[in-house]
Amino acid sequence: MTASARPFALDPDRLFPADPRTRDIARGLYETVARLPILSPHGHCDPQWFADDEAFPDPAQLFIAPDHYVHRMLYSQGVRPEELGVPRVDGGPVETDSRKIWRRFAGNFHLFRGTPSWLWLCHAFTEVFGFHERLSAENADRAYDHIAACLARPEFRPRALFARFNIEALSTTESPLDDLRHHRKIKASGWRGRVLTAFRPDSVVDPAFPGFLDNLAALAQIADADLSTWQGYLAALAKRRAYFKSVGCTSTDHGHPTAGAADLSTREAAALYDRVRKGGASAADAEMFRAQMLTEMARMSLDDGLVMQIHPGAFRDHNPTIFKAFGRDKGADIPTPTDYVFALKPLLDRFGNEPSLTIILFTLDETAFSRELAPLAGHYPALRLGPPWWFLDSPEGMRRFRETVTETAGFSNTVGFNDDTRAFLSIPARHDMSRRVDCAFLARLVAEGRLERDEAFEVAHDLAYRLAKAAYKL
Ligand SMILES: [Zn+2]
Repeated sequence: MTASARPFALDPDRLFPADPRTRDIARGLYETVARLPILSPHGHCDPQWFADDEAFPDPAQLFIAPDHYVHRMLYSQGVRPEELGVPRVDGGPVETDSRKIWRRFAGNFHLFRGTPSWLWLCHAFTEVFGFHERLSAENADRAYDHIAACLARPEFRPRALFARFNIEALSTTESPLDDLRHHRKIKASGWRGRVLTAFRPDSVVDPAFPGFLDNLAALAQIADADLSTWQGYLAALAKRRAYFKSVGCTSTDHGHPTAGAADLSTREAAALYDRVRKGGASAADAEMFRAQMLTEMARMSLDDGLVMQIHPGAFRDHNPTIFKAFGRDKGADIPTPTDYVFALKPLLDRFGNEPSLTIILFTLDETAFSRELAPLAGHYPALRLGPPWWFLDSPEGMRRFRETVTETAGFSNTVGFNDDTRAFLSIPARHDMSRRVDCAFLARLVAEGRLERDEAFEVAHDLAYRLAKAAYKL
């Protein structure tokens, strides 16, 4: 074995504080939450995995194809998406040999040092597959063969892993145009695993979404509704929400570029809808329409009880070359500064005081945590703070989140952790990371005399389990 392909094991004290006294407290807290069931109320796993329960095809398809964190890092260092087998929009040639793709990934594994992907991937290799070497070019084939042999066994099928990961509930994300066939198949199968859908209407409420007009036509068809009027359009969306709810959905998700909300009169909204549905929307119209739709969705949530998630602040598809060749979600999204105080005011003026409404806010703009989000969630009964997300879903991001929001919003205005992942195998690693970082934060409060030890145990349990269960109505 060469120097780079070394034996590897995860440090059992990883992510705990370095000083022995606080570390001991953190370890004690973590031991009580480490094995709690996983609630994954927001993510992007493919429900078909659990509907069909077929073996994952191979290590490259499992670890590399769905993971945009992997794509972006490798691309930044000169690996072209074609070389990773990412399908081209034009159907042009890409690498199809999974072993070659895996070798490319393994040979570049050092690029992930210091990133959360390194910990997630190492966790999956060692804890899930029992491969106890540090991945490198030299042991790429050995790792591939080891993982491929595991994947051929029944205990590595999606449903078996779901049970082994101790997942109590996992939510995927579907558009209103989805017929939810995989979710229905899961329900009908009698399998006890709980896989929910979340209602993600961006494709039919954002006039700038690719194919928006075609999407409206598809919505008219799937909802069997007349979309020629504003009222008809809203009724179609309400109908799709009811359908999602009937299949087990408890939440909606809104990935708008900004947190902009509006509260137009019915006449103004109808006129705006008319411009939008005829394809004549300006950029300002599109932003106003999305803004109005956030408020409409909040109103519908008051009626049907679906929990609302707002995920603003990503400049999607920043790289036009990648978007043109490979489409969306290929690791080319970049965070932008995000305003909440002014942007959400029209929505909060109407619904912010509703205790029966839950709106969970996310951000990619850390400056908003202490300046805007913690004060907003620490006041409005309808608001909660989502966990640090995407670029902030990392040990440092999670630590900074607790440090910047807790003093203003407390713990109860947060909603526990969600992994927001497309990479199923990373789920245990991500939840474990969050539990460790939260316990480390609580340990510091105890060590500094800011929290009693028994309270810290209670909060650790809340953060790992109870808050997510309550906020997402799981
Ligand atoms: Zn998401």
